[in-house]
Amino acid sequence: FNVPIAVNEPVKSYAPGSPEREAVLQAYKAMFNSKVDVPLYINGEDVTTGNTRQISPPHDHKHSVGTYHLAEQNNVEDAIKTALQARDAWANTPWEQRAAIFLKAAELIAGPYRAKINAATMIAQSKTIHQAEIDSACELIDFLRFNVQFMSDIYMEQPESTSDAWNRVEYRPLEGFTYAVTPFNFTAIAGNLPACMALMGNVVVWKPSDSQIYSAKVIMDVFKEAGVPAGVINVVFGDPVMITNTVLASPDFSGLHFTGSTFVFKELWKQIGQNIHNYKTYPRIVGETGGKDFIVAHKTANPKQVATAIARGAFEFQGQKCSAASRVYVAKGIWEAVKNHLLTDLKSFKMGSPEDMSNFITAVIHEGSFDKLAKYIDQAKADDDAEIIAGGNYDKSKGYFIEPTVIVTKDPKYTTMCTELFGPVVTIYVYEDDAYTETLKLVDSTSEYALTGAILAADRYAIVEATKLLQNSAGNFYINDKPTGAVVGQQPFGGARASGTNDKAGSAQNLLRWVSPRLIKETF
Ligand code: GLU
Repeated sequence: FNVPIAVNEPVKSYAPGSPEREAVLQAYKAMFNSKVDVPLYINGEDVTTGNTRQISPPHDHKHSVGTYHLAEQNNVEDAIKTALQARDAWANTPWEQRAAIFLKAAELIAGPYRAKINAATMIAQSKTIHQAEIDSACELIDFLRFNVQFMSDIYMEQPESTSDAWNRVEYRPLEGFTYAVTPFNFTAIAGNLPACMALMGNVVVWKPSDSQIYSAKVIMDVFKEAGVPAGVINVVFGDPVMITNTVLASPDFSGLHFTGSTFVFKELWKQIGQNIHNYKTYPRIVGETGGKDFIVAHKTANPKQVATAIARGAFEFQGQKCSAASRVYVAKGIWEAVKNHLLTDLKSFKMGSPEDMSNFITAVIHEGSFDKLAKYIDQAKADDDAEIIAGGNYDKSKGYFIEPTVIVTKDPKYTTMCTELFGPVVTIYVYEDDAYTETLKLVDSTSEYALTGAILAADRYAIVEATKLLQNSAGNFYINDKPTGAVVGQQPFGGARASGTNDKAGSAQNLLRWVSPRLIKETF
């Protein structure tokens, strides 16, 4: 299988005066000051319903950058119908032709669409340019390129044959159609979920998050220009319950690719179980869900490195990564030094609109998230066993701004040590230097999740012990690093327990879930 060798897209610096900075600022201004109207996309056609909702930047929520159309049930039924009509032609399209489309999509994002996809992510998801560049442009390009390589790895996996019998495996797409439900927090994940299923020959109904509509539109424009045929990927927005009920009621539903909350994923799983007798095939279920990701700092860790891991791991993109550090365990012997470095780092973090590229923190995604976070911060202010040592202020008058907040608690089971908050709030517990083993056991037992985690230590025996005792506590385990920022092709991403099915995003293992192999034995 001759496929281009996948390489990670270099991350641009956006330094003052650089052409990429000028281009993205120009795109930002143009998009911020005009009105987009985002239709549904069904059977290769834009579909408007007239039932619209505003798209507003979380950092400037009274401002509108346009509208999007909400699907009615018949639109979702049309999306399913046209996907099924497109299925056979697409499934029988040679794999090189499918691959070429998505490789072209990668190049379109790397070139002409880069500023636009970044600006859409900055405006409607309130990402800084640096986070947008990493997670919307580069990571999506990487997914699209590496998926082709993973596909060829899969196709090459063939059984032994003998001189009188030739065994071969045909990696057919699933029968029926698949369903992608994607999150607001990573534009790259939103694009990858439908794209990787389509690459393997499946047809898709895609429901992006209501908070990611603008960049979803750019992704769909890219797919269209790259040559994804009509009906192969159909996009519907709107009432998630109606859309999901309609999709899961179809006997042809054959796979769910989901990134989002644990609660919703479990509900969908339950619903699929309830409908199981109606389906023609057992649906594949793949999900990446919540996290309560940890950092453990041993007494031999470098305090400055620990502080950087907390500052970046907890607060990049306002802590709204599934992988974000949200509970931290620091050995008493290094705590004062860690604290000083952390407070210094946090003082340098400016908060405001992503248009000002010197801001490190912008707004959280919506009012519901803001109100929930504010409630936990207020509770911490009132509780005796919690102390806020940085941040703690919030203001939603213009945008949903919450200062990066550090809570220190004496109780390792304090609410914010155990509950997923999904925002710029981190809780730290300082443990006695000689209670390391006990602390590792606490880390493992006080959270239902197992997505990411990090151990920082110089002592190799401390690293060995953490690696062993935390073997089920994180699907992505980082040694002397922050727990965020997995790179496609380098750190396949995903976790178990309440964090998902651990079918690693950015791996052949994930793509294998979207095929139904047929073994052919031919005797001579
Ligand atoms: N892959 C991302 C990271 O390593 C996290 C993805 C997510 O938030 O779902 O930071």
